[in-house]
Amino acid sequence: MRKPLTPEEALREGIISTAVAMNASGINRGKSGNVSARWRQGDFDGFLVTPSGLRYEETTREDIVAVSLDGEPFGRRVPSSEWRFHRDIYRSRDDAHAVVHTHAPFATSLACLGRGIPAFHYMVAVAGGVDVRCAAYATFGTQELSDHALAALDGRRACLLANHGMIALGNSVAVALALAIEVETLAEMYWRALQIGEPIILSDGEMQTVLEKFATYGQPSRPD
Ligand SMILES: [Zn+2]
Repeated sequence: MRKPLTPEEALREGIISTAVAMNASGINRGKSGNVSARWRQGDFDGFLVTPSGLRYEETTREDIVAVSLDGEPFGRRVPSSEWRFHRDIYRSRDDAHAVVHTHAPFATSLACLGRGIPAFHYMVAVAGGVDVRCAAYATFGTQELSDHALAALDGRRACLLANHGMIALGNSVAVALALAIEVETLAEMYWRALQIGEPIILSDGEMQTVLEKFATYGQPSRPD
């Protein structure tokens, strides 16, 4: 009989399966993008993250890297080059227990124009506010990029990254991935609407009503 997985092993498995599912869903391709989950045990306080430059299908539990909140890596692999914004999100956001970063095609297309996603559709509220912001550009892997991302995530659970991609967070890897897919779906709809005209933007008042309704539905359940 197989030994049951420890909580840490199960979390490592969950990170890998989420990364594989992320690519299978079409919101990410190849080795770009990364997935992490908050991890605390004993004296260790930090997170587990996908390694740099390894295909998700070939990644094993031992390849997942533990990184402390001080930025110290533990493991046989180098952590994703974007470990800084994962670290800074866990440091500053108590509501974040998992982070998904992708180069989703439609979200990234908007981000290459420096555009976020306004309230063209009420489901934009799923990311926590009246819009999904686009963080200012900075070189990948830098503290500057992390600082811009955290500013864009203020009061939100997702943001776009100019000329780069998208970040979504949640209370589990499954919830963070579901939000990333939702944001990419919204980005695609917004992109399509822009092809034929100027989308009508919902008022802040209407979006507040939607946000209040979402709060009573409870997250992460998804309204229809
Ligand atoms: Zn990236």
